[in-house]
Amino acid sequence: MLSVVIPSYNEEPMIPLTARTVAAVLDGAGIPFELLFVDDGSSDGTWAAIQAAASARPEVRGLRFSRNFGKEAAIFAGLEAARGQAVAVLDCDLQHPPEKLPEMYQLWQEGYQVVEGVKADRGAESGLHAAAARSFYALISRAMKLDLQDSSDYKLMDRAVVDALVAMPERGVFFRALSYWVGFRRAEVRYPVQPRAAGQSKWNARSLIRYAFANLSAFSSAPMQLVTWLGLLFCVFGLVLGVQTLVRLALGQAAEGFTTVILLILLSAGLILLSLGIIGFYIARIYDEIKGRPRSIVAERCGQETGEDPILH
Ligand code: UDP
Ligand code: MG
Repeated sequence: MLSVVIPSYNEEPMIPLTARTVAAVLDGAGIPFELLFVDDGSSDGTWAAIQAAASARPEVRGLRFSRNFGKEAAIFAGLEAARGQAVAVLDCDLQHPPEKLPEMYQLWQEGYQVVEGVKADRGAESGLHAAAARSFYALISRAMKLDLQDSSDYKLMDRAVVDALVAMPERGVFFRALSYWVGFRRAEVRYPVQPRAAGQSKWNARSLIRYAFANLSAFSSAPMQLVTWLGLLFCVFGLVLGVQTLVRLALGQAAEGFTTVILLILLSAGLILLSLGIIGFYIARIYDEIKGRPRSIVAERCGQETGEDPILH
């Protein structure tokens, strides 16, 4: 069976459409499936729409978060609840074309354990957004020594991969990068990014910047090394200046310049504070992880829970 995990946040108009479209594609290809909608604490009628879809079709199940925990948490809760031998993750807005699912499933049957959906283009994104996204992926790709430039959350994974992902205790999960990190036999399927079918994007500039920093820090300690390099640079600078001052003193030339002193104090204070900020950011992340709170809280479930065996092989 193929489980399709669909994170949904304020997607009321999309739920019936997505359920119908995905079910039609999979029925058409003769693939047994379940659709797992994860309502990420929506404030509109998303949960009612999921309940309606679940009572209309036995294949539909739903989880509802107690509040908005974010897309990554929704994906992981879906992976935990999925019972299929293969699990796919798909956006609720049909930007990830479900028509590609049979092709991905086919590759899985051929023995590939992670089938990546790779963006053939970036869809209709504005220039600034696309540029920011490119630099974020360039940084994180370097940190991970992998090319994540055209990666997306559209993937199909084998049960072994899902079990490995779900077993990770970390709180600040970044699905796109973790699914690379785990390894396994991989294949790629290129897909054209579709325009959003209804509703609007849940991201704004602020949330995207926060997301970028959180994920970068989770995969790279390069900013901390930057602190070391800055310190080293400053030591060399200080040494040169110190020698110069001593030589001048020996030559009997009075050290000139109140300005130099002020500038040096300002510069070094700035660098120290910046470095403390970077280190503080990592300490905050450690604190977040060590508290060990769950990634999300499921408040309600709907749809048929098949009894005995939680995972149908
Ligand atoms: N989403 C979510 N929780 C959030 C934000 C988004 O589950 O806090 C879901 C959303 O319902 C959609 C997917 O993540 O299925 C992608 O969101 P969106 O289309 O807004 O992002 P974009 O495609 O613009 O990157
Ligand atoms: Mg979208």
